[in-house]
Amino acid sequence: MQRRDFVKSTGAFALGGTTILGCREKSAEASGFQAGDNPKRSIVISTWNNIEANNAAWKVLSKGGNATDSVEAGVQIPEGDPNDQSVGYGGRPDREGKVTLDASIMNHAGECGAVAFLEGIKHPIKVARLVMEKTPHVLMVGEGALQFAVEKGFRVEELLTPESENEWKKWLVEAQYKPEINIENHDTIGMVALDSNGNLGGACTTSGLAWKMRGRVGDSPIIGAGLFVDGDVGAATATGVGEAVIKIAGSHLVVEFMRQGNSPEDACKLAVERIMKKVPNHADLQVGFIALNLNGEYGGYAIQRGFIYAVQTDSESIIKDSKYFLG
Ligand code: ASP
Repeated sequence: MQRRDFVKSTGAFALGGTTILGCREKSAEASGFQAGDNPKRSIVISTWNNIEANNAAWKVLSKGGNATDSVEAGVQIPEGDPNDQSVGYGGRPDREGKVTLDASIMNHAGECGAVAFLEGIKHPIKVARLVMEKTPHVLMVGEGALQFAVEKGFRVEELLTPESENEWKKWLVEAQYKPEINIENHDTIGMVALDSNGNLGGACTTSGLAWKMRGRVGDSPIIGAGLFVDGDVGAATATGVGEAVIKIAGSHLVVEFMRQGNSPEDACKLAVERIMKKVPNHADLQVGFIALNLNGEYGGYAIQRGFIYAVQTDSESIIKDSKYFLG
């Protein structure tokens, strides 16, 4: 099941751009959560309809746990879900039928770790965390990343599910030897959180573009592109066509726009505008950013209609429809 279908099947309903999923039926705007409020109020936001992932993150945050632990726990939900064909186990393969995974994590202090082109490991975010904590490096790729994971006790597993394999075989029949870059096909989870101590953390994990060239790596494991956290300012993460995000160092740019005084939504909007200015053919692409600042204010923006993100606080668990430029 696609995540966009999941929204339909949960019986969620839309209300003024906000879809309510249980909890108190009020919009984020109506929750009284304004800039300058208690900065220690916890919040987690994530790309797409990752309500369950937010719930897992919230279990950590609501017990006073730290933001980095929370996002690491949260993104493992879609990583381990075979029905999620854009992240981790069950992800759509590259054009050679191999599932290759990218992930990154970053904490309030600016420490970070990432893996790219990693095969056979169901939870690449856990490997990224160990790169951050157990090595002097930031990014490990391919065979070396796999070797590191195995040394750390990870089990190598087949990640290609029959469903993704069948889709790949169908694609092979008419394959025009180009990756799928339609605007519907991006469900990477990027998640950023603020904990009760006022600390930020972020994580991003994906199987990347379906049918990508072997060895292709997107924005998700590139610190500053798919994810960025600055403990003085805020955090941002991205989904969509990674090449466009990398070209503008997207998540770092969003954080820099927040540093200049922009709200999270305006910062995301400005970064999307930068893509539209700098990246040719952006009208055929989808990119969405979400961002969170130290006051717990959040926002998102996308090139195209259809981008949504999930928000969880102590009072609500909601899906927001992102604003967008085209569509
Ligand atoms: N950003 C991801 C990538 O380019 C794709 C996605 O968001 O689904 O690898």
